[in-house]
Amino acid sequence: MLMCDKEATLLIQGKGISPGLAEGRTFVHRDMLRSLDAPTGIKAENIEREFGHLDDATARTTGDLLVLATRVEKEIDSRLAAVFETHQVMLNDPTLREELRAEIRGNLVSASSAVKAVFLRWEKRFLLMESQLARHKGDDMRDISKRLSDALAGIKIHPLEHIPPGSVLVANRLLPSDTIFLSQHSTVAVLLEYGGAGSHAALFARAMGLPCIADIPMILKRVPADALALVDANLGEVIIGPQAKQKAIFRQKVDARRKAFIAAQARAREQAVTRDGVAIAVLANVGCRDDTKRAMENGAEGVGLYRTEHIYMGRMTPPDVDELLDEMRRTLEPAQGNPVCVRLLDIGADKPFPFISFLAETNPALGRRGIRLLREYPGLLETQLQAVLKLSEEFDVRILVPMVALPEDVAKVKECLTHLGSELRVSALPKLGAMIETPAAALSAQAIEQYADFLSFGTNDLTQYTFAADRENAAVEQYFNDAADVIFRLLQITHDDAPGMPLSVCGELAGRAEHIPKLLQCGVRTLSVAPPLIPIIKEAIRESRCNAT
Ligand code: PEP
Ligand code: MG
Repeated sequence: MLMCDKEATLLIQGKGISPGLAEGRTFVHRDMLRSLDAPTGIKAENIEREFGHLDDATARTTGDLLVLATRVEKEIDSRLAAVFETHQVMLNDPTLREELRAEIRGNLVSASSAVKAVFLRWEKRFLLMESQLARHKGDDMRDISKRLSDALAGIKIHPLEHIPPGSVLVANRLLPSDTIFLSQHSTVAVLLEYGGAGSHAALFARAMGLPCIADIPMILKRVPADALALVDANLGEVIIGPQAKQKAIFRQKVDARRKAFIAAQARAREQAVTRDGVAIAVLANVGCRDDTKRAMENGAEGVGLYRTEHIYMGRMTPPDVDELLDEMRRTLEPAQGNPVCVRLLDIGADKPFPFISFLAETNPALGRRGIRLLREYPGLLETQLQAVLKLSEEFDVRILVPMVALPEDVAKVKECLTHLGSELRVSALPKLGAMIETPAAALSAQAIEQYADFLSFGTNDLTQYTFAADRENAAVEQYFNDAADVIFRLLQITHDDAPGMPLSVCGELAGRAEHIPKLLQCGVRTLSVAPPLIPIIKEAIRESRCNAT
């Protein structure tokens, strides 16, 4: 103990990308970098044999990814399971497979050398396109290539399988497939060199409730192995080899937080009423049945955002009405009797959906996303609306339109909903909401109001489009501030332009306790947050006032 206090103390600062406090011993994970060995040559008569190895490894990796997706959906979060489903689609992409075969055939190299060369080329292509495509595509390619190389080499053990329980993981970056080991082995916190707030690493860490600090330069050189670390991801600060006094202060902080959390949990099922007597609805953002279950146990008053993209991922054909209805029913069943809000499909040109042949767009985030794509493919829209109308016979259901920029975006959905409603003889149509996630929508509330029953701020995209800063590109992170004054001004303008309109927030901002008073003062009366955050957000509401004075 004394020895430990005499260890050199090191204070390291980075950026907290998943909040929380944790104490543990460092586990330094040196990613085995791709070997730079010369490619292994083969004879022309062995080309077919290498094709066979490649096909076997692809099939095995596809199978592993399927198992992983199912486990992640069960154990972590359905949105994250979608990452592995996307990897399956990328891995089986005909262009990629053909390029791998051409590499073997053309350069007479082994399947394993072909994988290294081709994936490196793809990774570089993504890096070159970095300003337009999500930065994490490079991580995706690296992750798939590692899996395929391991499968070709017959390697089945992941280096993180041996991480000791209670570790603070120290790594360059966190790849999606690393994360499953963290939940199993009770890693207590993660310290990274790379990883933005919108990265896969951040999503995973937040979904698992793991404190995570990123943006720590030269991390592998600076942080020693097996040293005691006190991680405060709220402040983006870690103390390595702390003094006795620092430990005592930190442990007091952890204890106070734990007590506050227990108190919040105890009151989670009670309504959240502000100090000035206004009841605020706290709903949940969900993607799968477990999310909904967890949300209801945590005191959610319904579902404020059901992300449905997951149902479409990794499929060769889009789901039909019955498949959609079954999946929606399964996901929402734990919330039956409470309001539930289904968001229409919000896919964009940067996500590989095999059943739509996308033309490459130079600016995918500004291209055919969300409602724009649904207007272009009315069949997709109709199927979803039919499923939701059928669902409305069993659930108190609402509909959210993603990526609205023009009042017509909502008008078109309303028109289609009304038409299908009368065809299906639905007596009361579900309420229709517009997501306000573009500045144009925020400044058109008066016109949108004619077609919508409520508005829900998607502050993640609203911030991205207001600051012209890719939400997943760490390089422009300093521009992406969802709590900036300009964002609150857009909320206030929306409220003032459409005074009677029910307003909710379903972006990440709604889950940050310190911003609740300002949101309520802008007229927001419903918040929709990740299931684990519900108790804490209800407590924050109880401490707030709707009127600033
Ligand atoms: C948002 O943009 O804030 C939002 C809730 O939608 P998503 O994060 O799914 O784009
Ligand atoms: Mg959005």
